[in-house]
Amino acid sequence: MAVLVIADHDGSAVRDTTHKTVTAALALSSDVDVLVLGKGAQAVADAAAKISGVRKVLLAEGDAVAHGLAEAVEATVLPLAGNYDAILTPANTDGKNFAPRIAAKLDVAPISDIVEVVSGDTFVRPIYAGNALETIQSADAKKVITVRPTAFAAAPNNESEGGSASVESVAAGEAPKTAFVSEEMVKSDRPELGAAKIVVSGGRALGSAEEFHAVMDPLADKLGAAVGASRAAVDAGYAPNDYQVGQTGKVVAPALYIAIGISGAIQHLAGMKDSKIIVAINKDADAPIFQVADYGWVADYKTAVPELMAALG
Ligand code: FAD
Repeated sequence: MAVLVIADHDGSAVRDTTHKTVTAALALSSDVDVLVLGKGAQAVADAAAKISGVRKVLLAEGDAVAHGLAEAVEATVLPLAGNYDAILTPANTDGKNFAPRIAAKLDVAPISDIVEVVSGDTFVRPIYAGNALETIQSADAKKVITVRPTAFAAAPNNESEGGSASVESVAAGEAPKTAFVSEEMVKSDRPELGAAKIVVSGGRALGSAEEFHAVMDPLADKLGAAVGASRAAVDAGYAPNDYQVGQTGKVVAPALYIAIGISGAIQHLAGMKDSKIIVAINKDADAPIFQVADYGWVADYKTAVPELMAALG
């Protein structure tokens, strides 16, 4: 059995999500190749070649694949698909975009958001906003799978062993009916929400965008944390969309998650309950967030956060 991992990267380095997807792929087979798509992505391919357990890296470069258009990813992957029994990619925005497309073209059922590989054809995935785990067995000859990165450890780099996999060029597919127009990148000095070791999240209690940033930003900066938000805070315009944590936002599993003025609705918990340590600050002692919190602080955030800041020094 051979497995192809479609890499997630930022144009200059592979993201941690790729390392984690390689771990899932290695649970299926020891023959794991990584496909890097992009423009000027040689450095990404070289970095992918250093991931322990990777057999070889395929590099597809060109304008058409510079922006992760699903049609171009599909056109690149389909000619390679014959060589692989499974195609894996992280369950992030891009993967959720192109994986079902590739699966449809291969006439197989996509298997989404797996958190465990039981065997070559059996996988575990969360359903009902993470309230139940479903074990599914796929009869399809070829599997197209998205992997929930927070459920897998990152495959390490094999630099200590001194080796790295070979990098081979493959043809980049075209997307004749789709054109890239523009993108707006959010620039931040803080760590990326999905990969941060510490996340501080604010909820509806913050009351306004000014208050949200006045409370959350200094705390995040002090802790070197990423800032997250509940959907209520995002919908109310207190925080940007890409801050949203939860079922319809990002799934995070940092070492420390601090929820401030967040009630703990199941849709929010679906995105953060696998965090290693959860701290909740809420003035309602009955808020459901306290059921998953390791440390609960029943207090008004207006007094609790300054106290926390002072204690942090
Ligand atoms: P609230 O539920 O209003 O809670 C505010 C909390 O702040 C309360 O517990 C209150 O006691 C506390 N509080 C108030 N004032 C203070 C104070 N001064 N100091 C301390 N605490 C205070 N939600 C998400 O977060 N992410 C998702 O991805 C998501 N997806 C959804 C998908 C679907 C299909 C649906 C139906 C809902 C989804 N939701 C999601 C919404 C979710 O159901 C909740 O409405 C939302 O999480 C509530 O956000 P909140 O906790 O900030 O607000």
